[in-house]
Amino acid sequence: MRLILLGPPGAGKGTQAQRLVEKHGLVQLSTGDMLRHAAAAGTKVGNEAKTLMDAGSLVPDEVVIDIISERLDEADVRAGFVLDGFPRTLKQADALEGLLAQKGLPLDGVILLAVDDEALVDRVAGRYTCARCGEIYHQTKKRPKQEGVCDVCGSTEFKRRDDDNAETMRTRLTAFYKDTAPLVGYYYAKGRLRTVDGMASREDVAAAIEEAMGELKG
Ligand code: AMP
Repeated sequence: MRLILLGPPGAGKGTQAQRLVEKHGLVQLSTGDMLRHAAAAGTKVGNEAKTLMDAGSLVPDEVVIDIISERLDEADVRAGFVLDGFPRTLKQADALEGLLAQKGLPLDGVILLAVDDEALVDRVAGRYTCARCGEIYHQTKKRPKQEGVCDVCGSTEFKRRDDDNAETMRTRLTAFYKDTAPLVGYYYAKGRLRTVDGMASREDVAAAIEEAMGELKG
């Protein structure tokens, strides 16, 4: 399937996208991850994006559209993909539609993770990941079973995103409501939008996504 997971920062898009990779063999297309890799590699695009990302602002449309366009040309995406964090503006959504039509990869649908904003700030401010495999943890809500050891790969190194703090989170939420929220109407009008309760447990959100995917397939 070809899906978009839509929702504010911290809604659980990354967690659910990882699950879709494992369960359905979809490829996760996260522009945030791509930009963080570019920043870590010290490329020109990466360095420019890093300043904006650290402030919680969006990077320019042209930059992310180029990145996604190139990624969509790679063979693995033909197996199906889940877009996580892209598109984030109407301009990106229009560009995506053109790119997918041109590449013969039309979307099956868009799943919106609906959340409570106040809870998001706490969710994001406590978030950290395994430095080796990327498993996502939370300071109070999901610690590794054995303290300091990743449940999945056994690594003892963890990291935290530079933009995961309460202040930047508020800027990111503002960007979401200003630039990304209009996409809800955009996809609703196309009849391909399903909404799930993103505040439920990971397992319940996953089950609701499965149900939504069933509807979108039909
Ligand atoms: P994410 O990992 O999806 O939360 O993205 C982290 C940061 O990367 C965002 O706060 C933006 O600065 C930047 N970013 C990621 N995807 C996009 C996008 N589609 N458009 C603009 N900026 C993006």
